[in-house]
Amino acid sequence: MTPGRSCAACRTNVSDADVFCLSCGRLLDETRDDVRCEQHPEDVARAACVVCGRPVCSRCGRQVHGATVCDDPGHESINAEWRIVAEVASPFEADLIIRNLSLNGIPASGFDQHAHPSRLLLDEPSRVLVYVPADRHAMATSLLDDLDLRFESPESSEQ
Ligand SMILES: [Zn+2]
Ligand SMILES: [Zn+2]
Ligand SMILES: [Zn+2]
Repeated sequence: MTPGRSCAACRTNVSDADVFCLSCGRLLDETRDDVRCEQHPEDVARAACVVCGRPVCSRCGRQVHGATVCDDPGHESINAEWRIVAEVASPFEADLIIRNLSLNGIPASGFDQHAHPSRLLLDEPSRVLVYVPADRHAMATSLLDDLDLRFESPESSEQ
């Protein structure tokens, strides 16, 4: 994390390796034109869905409360009603977390931010986000702490 580098749109701190803002989804370097919309490869992606990481153009991305979501109907409600409980580097770690949460009755979903063809060639750190419903977040957090499964715990940027 380089102090001082932050998203021009929402001011969230970002690392040098990040291509998209984790908080609002915006493409951080507006001069780059090598990131293509997943559904419209002829169009440059100006943002990625903050839930699933899919790069989107202005036709298939939507702004909801200052963040970009893709046109998957479920992702808008996840962005609004679910919260990130863990951020891990591999789908295997995410699966372990999700399994433990569901064993304890907490629904959870993992989103591999880079599982998109148009992000494969980007040089980014790998990142899988695990979401739980907002009202289960505290329970999920303490459960993962107890199991020592939390790895890393990004606080969603409080503005
Ligand atoms: Zn941002
Ligand atoms: Zn999405
Ligand atoms: Zn598009």
